[in-house]
Amino acid sequence: MSGDPHVKGDRPAFQPPDGLLKVARKLEASGHEAWAVGGAIRDAIRGLPKGDWDLATDARPDQVRGLFPRTVPLGVEHGTVGVLSEDGTMFEVTTFRLDVETDGRHAVVEFATDVEDDLARRDFTINAIAWRPATDDVQDPYGGRDDLRDGILRAVGEPGLRFAEDYLRVLRAFRFAGAYDLSIEPATGSALRLAVPRLNRLSAERVREELLKVMSCAEPSKALRMYASYGALESWYPEIARVAHGVPWDTTLAAIDAIGAHRPYLRVVRLLLCAEGEDALRETAAHALLTRLKFSNADIRRGVHLVSHYTPLVHPADSSASIREWLHEAGPESARDLFRLHFAAARAGGSEDGVRALTFTWRRVHDELVGGSPVSMAQLAIDGTDLLELGLPRGPLIGLMLEELLAQVIESPESNERETLLRSARELIELGGLDALEGGAKG
Ligand code: ATP
Ligand code: MG
Repeated sequence: MSGDPHVKGDRPAFQPPDGLLKVARKLEASGHEAWAVGGAIRDAIRGLPKGDWDLATDARPDQVRGLFPRTVPLGVEHGTVGVLSEDGTMFEVTTFRLDVETDGRHAVVEFATDVEDDLARRDFTINAIAWRPATDDVQDPYGGRDDLRDGILRAVGEPGLRFAEDYLRVLRAFRFAGAYDLSIEPATGSALRLAVPRLNRLSAERVREELLKVMSCAEPSKALRMYASYGALESWYPEIARVAHGVPWDTTLAAIDAIGAHRPYLRVVRLLLCAEGEDALRETAAHALLTRLKFSNADIRRGVHLVSHYTPLVHPADSSASIREWLHEAGPESARDLFRLHFAAARAGGSEDGVRALTFTWRRVHDELVGGSPVSMAQLAIDGTDLLELGLPRGPLIGLMLEELLAQVIESPESNERETLLRSARELIELGGLDALEGGAKG
């Protein structure tokens, strides 16, 4: 391959979407340069299809907004404007930047006029390749194409300085090396080891988003192994760092890979299943980790719920009533995810018997679910108002009584009928003398 960055070497013809070409043409027609950069170029050179094509330009954000009828200010302070093409696809157009000053958490940027300056502030050589559709020129000043061909991850410029500018690059290094099977160039590797203790300076949000990107890779295990071997789990994932070795770690990683890449959060949950807190309780560990990474309250609730209901799972030989009881405990919404986690573990472990047993059990769970067997309070044929009318006092007894009736219905679904349940309730009230209690609305 040629050392001259302007010479077109052995590379595929880029095939960006039409919309992107139109956006580029319009920028060029008004006297600006438009270069495709980043992930799309990197992936195209590797022969992979890539969804999001981004453009870099010398046009300032306000100029970009003036040129196109439909724009979205995605991050104007960073120079990024979303341009909507005629068919509604959005492309990110970012003004050439120059990193001027950083605190290791966020890169503080200033605009530049040359694509070379813009490439210089990018993190890795494989991410610092630009292509200009108008002229078919390629700019590859750091040998990103050679590194891609040779399978090498290398920082642009002096690695230690580049990581100190933005420690997120440390985590990005593991993701790219893992996703593309790259070996880390030695100077970059030494700088990574030195930079790892500073990961605690990052914001939780960036670490979390980066984790979700890792979990969206085909095989997250590769990047996660690097997190572990470079000591990068200590700051943000101490509950995982504690257990990231040996057979249980291998099992965890294999199970994560076995979950679909379109379920990144479920893969995070799988990771949490091996977590260990100070008190050795994985629920506590999962809660601490998700909270530290500032996942939403809904995600935290869902994650901790799945972790605490992972076992015991229903068994092929269980009675239908036990299966409904399990559905009640686990919650019908979580049942699928719990089975996904177990299926992934069985597939990862190569256990054909395990997969067969799960398939059989799942069919039974599924039948209960689609058959509409009541497993939650909301499905009961009566509610609290009915109990008040029967003379039960307002307060905790109502809930207890409903629980009792639900247990009865889980045992025998055919009893979920208004009259039957009212009869049971009346009997319990009479037996316990409950209607005589203070506050009872006796008729
Ligand atoms: P993917 O979208 O698959 O994560 P990508 O390479 O497109 O990969 P983005 O985060 O979308 O990654 O960033 C686009 C480009 O911006 C990168 O290719 C890289 O050139 C540059 N870039 C992104 N984040 C950083 C960073 N923290 N430091 C330096 N350059 C960065
Ligand atoms: Mg991208």
